[in-house]
This record gives sequence, C-alpha cells and structure tokens, in this order.
Amino acid sequence: MTAPLDVLVVGAGPTGLALATQLRACETPFRIVDRSLDRARESRAPAIQPRTLEMLSAFGVADDLVERGSTAVRLHLHLPRRVLRVPVFDVGCDDTPYPFLLFLPQSETEAALTAHLAERDVTVERGTELLGAAPEGEYVTCRLRRSDGTEETVRARYVVGCDGAHSTVRARAGIAFEGYAYPQTFLLADLEADGLEQGAAHTYLTAAGLLFFFPLGTPATWRMIAMQPPGAPGGEVTLELLQRIADDWTPDKPSLHDPVWMTSFRIHNRGATHYRKGPFFLAGDAAHIHSPAGGQGMNTGIQDALNLGWKLAHVCRGAAPEELLETYEAERAPVGHGVRRLTDRAFTVGTSGHPALRLARTRLAPHLAPLLLRATGARARLFRTVSELGIHYRSGPASATGPQRPRQGPRAGDRLPDTPAGLQRRIAGPGYHLLLTGPAHHWPQDLPLGERHGLLSVHRLGTRSPWPGVTQALVRPDGYVGHLARGTDLTALRAYVDRWLPAS
Ligand SMILES: Cc1cc2nc3c(=O)[nH]c(=O)nc-3n(C[C@H](O)[C@H](O)[C@H](O)COP(=O)(O)OP(=O)(O)OC[C@H]3O[C@@H](n4cnc5c(N)ncnc54)[C@H](O)[C@@H]3O)c2cc1C
Repeated sequence: MTAPLDVLVVGAGPTGLALATQLRACETPFRIVDRSLDRARESRAPAIQPRTLEMLSAFGVADDLVERGSTAVRLHLHLPRRVLRVPVFDVGCDDTPYPFLLFLPQSETEAALTAHLAERDVTVERGTELLGAAPEGEYVTCRLRRSDGTEETVRARYVVGCDGAHSTVRARAGIAFEGYAYPQTFLLADLEADGLEQGAAHTYLTAAGLLFFFPLGTPATWRMIAMQPPGAPGGEVTLELLQRIADDWTPDKPSLHDPVWMTSFRIHNRGATHYRKGPFFLAGDAAHIHSPAGGQGMNTGIQDALNLGWKLAHVCRGAAPEELLETYEAERAPVGHGVRRLTDRAFTVGTSGHPALRLARTRLAPHLAPLLLRATGARARLFRTVSELGIHYRSGPASATGPQRPRQGPRAGDRLPDTPAGLQRRIAGPGYHLLLTGPAHHWPQDLPLGERHGLLSVHRLGTRSPWPGVTQALVRPDGYVGHLARGTDLTALRAYVDRWLPAS
C-alpha cells in the first residue's frame, strides 16, 4: 500500500477543483479523483458571483475566468404590460473588484480550474471511482476502482466528498440528506434566439410561470430555462416545444434555433444534516442542493471548498489544532441553510400556481416592482445577498473582537472589503495577514507574535488606511476577518493567534 495521504478529494466538479486549487497553494499532499472519464461538457451553472471571483483571485484564476466569460450589467424584467430595465450590482457592490455577474458556462469554469491545476503539476485522476471508505485507526481506508477495472486501496487522513448530489462519501459517512422535491419540471436549452436584446439577462414573469434567457456566449449565445407548461408532453425536449413557450409567454417572440444542449430537470431542496463526521467532510452539491434561482449553487460549493481547504492544510501540517476543522460546519452549514431558504422563497413566488401568488405575479408585481427597485437601500441589500458578498461568520467560533471595537470598517467574521488601492490582491496568499493601520510610530518594529509556521505576514497600512484610527485586523487565508480590535494592545490578538495558529 502507498504512503497515506493527507486529503483525498472525491469529485472533480467545480467544488472539488476549487478545493484542489487551495490545497495545492498550501502545498498539502492530496489526490483528487473523479469517476467520469471527462469533465462536464454541458454548460450547467451559467453564472459566477462577485464573491466567488474575489476568492478565486487569490490563486490567480479570476482573471482567466473573466476573460473567458461575459459580464451582464442589466436585467430586463418582463412583467405583464411593462419591462423594467434593472442595473445589476450597481449599488451595494462598490467594495469589490468584480461588481458584475459573470456569465460563463460551468464547463469553462471547470476548464479554467483544471488548466490552473495542470500548470501546477496536479493531475485530476479521471475514471477513478470511490467505492468504499471506512475509518481504521488514524486513517480512512478507501477503495478506488479505475475505468480499466483495476482497484487500489489508499489511506487518507481526511476524505472530502465533493461528489455531488448522490454523494458516495455522504453515504459512507452515514450522513442523512433531508428535504423535498418540487413538483415542477424545468426545460433547459443552450441555443440561439434572434430578437432578444443583447448584453442583458431576460426574465419573463407570466401567469403561466417563469422563463429566462441568460447571455451565455459559449457554447451558444443564450441559455433558456422555462417551466414546463401544464399539459405539455413529457419525454424529450424539442425545439418546437421551446418555440411554442417563447411565442406564448413573450411579446418579443424570439426565433429559436441551433440548440447545442436541451434537457429537462426536476429541482430538489435538500441539505446534509452534518457537513463533517469524523474524518469525512462534505462540500458543494454533496452538502446542499436547491433551485437555481439566483445562481447560487455552484458558487456556494466553491466557497465551501475555499472555507475548508486551508483549514485542512493547516491542521495536516501541524500548524493548527484539530478544533479548527470544527469551524467548517459551524460557518458553512448556516450559509447552506440560508441559500436553501432564499432560493425556495424565490422559486415559490415565481412558480406557484396558488391563486394569490399568481395574482401577485401578474397584477401586483408590475406596480410594486418599480417602487422596490427605486428603493436603493433595499436593492443594495438584495445585491449584497445574491452576490454572496454579504456572507459572514460574525457569530462563528473563529471570529473575535478585541475589547475595543473599531467604529468603522468590517466586523470580525466579515470578508475583507476591497479598497481602491486593491487591498484584497495585496494580501492574497495561503497564510494569515495582519493589517495594522494608523501612524507608523504606534507599532513596534518587532511585534511580539513569535514564529507561526511562516503563515503570518504583517502589513503596515499607515495613515492611508481603508478605515480611520489605529486598528488591527487579522485576515484569514480565505479573506475573512478573524480578529479585529482598535488600539495598539495586542493581548487579544495574541490570544487569538495562540488558539488558531500556535507558535511553531
Ligand atoms: C442540468 C443542470 C443544470 C444546472 N443549472 C444550474 C444553474 O442554472 N445554476 C446553478 O447555480 N447551478 C446549476 N446546476 C447545478 C450545478 O451544476 C451544481 O451546483 C454544481 O455542479 C455543483 O458542483 P459540485 O462540484 O459540488 O458537484 P458536481 O458538479 O455534481 O460534481 C461531482 C463530481 O463527483 C463525481 N463523483 C460522483 N461520485 C463519485 C465517486 N463515487 N467517485 C468519484 N467521483 C465521483 C462526479 O463524476 C462529478 O464529476 C445545474 C445542474 C444540472 C445537472
């Protein structure tokens, strides 16, 4: 048997690839396997949110993604008898270098991550399926089968299930996946649609149901998603059926042609009862599935991975206590619950056949929506949520505020906001970053923090700091503020660092 691994990543969808990217940056010994022989060729999730781009920019992947995709800056909301042209992320997203929704097929996102890994000598072991996994002593013994039928037994300290909705890891760990399926069937197609205004995403809210056209770019210009109309024949999705929906539900009646992918799907809303059980972890669709409303699914999976990877890396190299791994579920399970709740509400309002909700869609929405959109505060809050910039771990176990809280700026547990000078980019890297603000003479040249496995860098931002006063902010490797305090007393900071990154 080969030497034990630190981490076995099961599944090379966007979640597994993101985890591998972070483990590689942290130089953690790991392997990544996927039972399919090729990565997904279908477009699937078509959009990347600003927060995902921010997090991936730490590895130099975000620029490649932006180059491959197209940015939509407007949403056209087609309501009965009127069209609202809504700027997307024009408010509430002024502290990010990526204030847009990036439309990019999932196949391209996976291609960019796979290329990034290949450049760093990481091979995604395709055609390799996890059959079984059982904890034995300090390792999990895992049985892998390759597509040629040969089998291999590997031992790993931790096994991460990034293996999708039907996760084998989840089953082997004995973690339940609870929830329900929605009754509606959806039709999906990547195709050409003549007559739609370019550069915008189109949403049609009709009495019959919902219809979307997203600007995809590749492998076709548009992604169409529609509720299957009542009485429509089941079985194979045809261009004729899609054209009938476009004709019946839109005044523009775009002419549809050249489909490259057509399918139908049912939507579930389910969540794992735990994100961790002993040496097993779940991330992405293995931990939560829900409606695609709001483009959250793939993004939440990638962010699960980037919350977990550095924690595994630090524990495996002996730089952090095992207790750090407990913070994964504490921080990410509430995010997963929140996304399931949010997408469920949006989905129910958009699709329900209940007379009150149909009335709301057809009669009230045309009057209320313009008022809501004019309320910039409400719009900013909505964008903050959808863009995932608002995700925070304020009440999590690894967020702490010193005796004096800064009056402005982020709070402990918030993501570090970007600044015009590009602060996020400046502090990218696999370790912690201590930001000290205020006049230089306030801070001693030698800070009494000791040696921390080479994982703590100090940045003296001086008086041109992003927030006023003398403050200390300790930013974690995933870009969230762990510890925050005002003033120069480093006692609380030291206690935080002693707990999560004990001296080497
Ligand atoms: C038809 C369709 C349309 C979608 N549309 C949208 C959308 O519009 N918006 C949106 O946000 N999301 C959408 N999604 C969902 C989105 O694709 C998922 O959220 C995303 O793929 C989750 O990524 P993941 O890496 O967690 O899991 P997956 O992408 O499912 O990857 C799991 C990987 O694990 C591998 N695997 C499974 N079991 C094993 C095993 N035992 N051993 C080894 N490997 C294994 C699989 O081969 C697979 O490659 C869509 C999905 C589908 C199928």
